[in-house]
Amino acid sequence: MDCVIAGGGPAGAMLALLLARAGVEVTLLEKHGDFLRDFRGDTIHPSTLQVLDELGLAEEFLEIPHRKAYGMSMVTDAGDIRLASLRGLPGKYDYIAWVPQWDFLKLITSAAERYPGFRLLMNAEAHDLIREGRAVRGLRYRDGSGEHEIRADLTVAADGRHSTLRERAGLVPEELGAPMDVVWFRLPRHPSDRDDPFLRISSGRIMVAINRESYWQLAYVIPKGGFDELTGEGIDALREPVASLVPWLADRIGQIRSYDDVSVLTVVINRLHRWHRPGFVCIGDAAHAMSPVFGVGINLAVQDAVAAANLLAGSLRSGAPIPESTLHLLQKRRMLPTRVTQAAQRVFQNVVIKRALRREFDPSRLPREFDPSRLPRDLTKIPLANRMARRFVGLGIRPEHVLVRKA
Ligand SMILES: Cc1cc2nc3c(=O)[nH]c(=O)nc-3n(C[C@H](O)[C@H](O)[C@H](O)COP(=O)(O)OP(=O)(O)OC[C@H]3O[C@@H](n4cnc5c(N)ncnc54)[C@H](O)[C@@H]3O)c2cc1C
Repeated sequence: MDCVIAGGGPAGAMLALLLARAGVEVTLLEKHGDFLRDFRGDTIHPSTLQVLDELGLAEEFLEIPHRKAYGMSMVTDAGDIRLASLRGLPGKYDYIAWVPQWDFLKLITSAAERYPGFRLLMNAEAHDLIREGRAVRGLRYRDGSGEHEIRADLTVAADGRHSTLRERAGLVPEELGAPMDVVWFRLPRHPSDRDDPFLRISSGRIMVAINRESYWQLAYVIPKGGFDELTGEGIDALREPVASLVPWLADRIGQIRSYDDVSVLTVVINRLHRWHRPGFVCIGDAAHAMSPVFGVGINLAVQDAVAAANLLAGSLRSGAPIPESTLHLLQKRRMLPTRVTQAAQRVFQNVVIKRALRREFDPSRLPREFDPSRLPRDLTKIPLANRMARRFVGLGIRPEHVLVRKA
């Protein structure tokens, strides 16, 4: 193969599509048998909508049932605070599309299947690299029929936060610290419930609610490593705060019968100082694990994929060797957005989430600017702050455009 990619998440799937479209022979491996998993977030931001538009896929994407959010709000004890409005964002799209991630990945891989060079292997788990001296020449994987290997000019690790291939390449990320984990569960949604996804924050308690039509996907935030303590206190230790945060969920809270009905997701923020080896590169969360804060990890992963395809497709198609310096160019290009985004996530984590989890989200103990009861109800009325917030959330730092042509 010209290229083999481990990991069928947003980064790997998008890179595979872009390369196949450019006439590159590419195999994408996904260790699960389907994309139907709940744990990856649902937000497609304007920068990714723009990429879909450039690929001629925007219309098809927008046919998937979705919910449009033109802004971001936070629900506090003192009422709703509008944090940012995306209206007026430069470009064609000024909203976040909430789409279950499995639908997004299905669309991308189905589009890739239209190109003859694309091959998708499901239930295929990459577990090692093939090496010749310092260079990586492909990967080894296992599936239901046993052990296999694929040789390729370029091997890409897009296998997420716990990347196996990154570890096999001897690349170790720097951990930047996240104060929280997330307890993930669902409750039925009634037609009379509110419509929009929301962030609910109160002293000692934070929850995010995602509307998936027939049910709410709920993320209850707990202090890092706190799941054992929570389970030790019994199921009411989860039911009670959820019902007090969102009283209209109290009538169905009993449907969380035990901790078997929930899963815990560990949150990490980290990044590699070096993303590559000869013949090998990491992208997406494998290069820089993102916190769920601002819901921008999917979009960063997609932007990495676009930048990678722009830089590498020509050489891969022609069979020219890819110098490690070109892989370094990719790292250099994507490091700035990674650093800035992670810095902003860490500020929010430290100023809001950490304090809230320590029950310090008490108006009398917070600096004036972070006291929700004193904040203006509508931050979007502060023009400069709103312009900066909408650009950061909607387009991100250094948005990428599809430059590589269709073969
Ligand atoms: C609790 C939580 C909520 C989040 N919510 C949001 C959100 O709402 N919006 C947002 O933009 N971001 C969100 N994020 C961040 C976002 O999920 C990631 O930044 C994004 O998914 C990264 O994409 P990726 O393709 O790099 O990796 P992933 O999405 O992790 O995909 C990696 C893929 O590789 C596969 N894989 C793993 N190992 C192997 C292997 N050895 N062989 C083959 N396949 C393998 C996995 O099954 C997976 O499909 C959230 C993160 C967390 C922790």
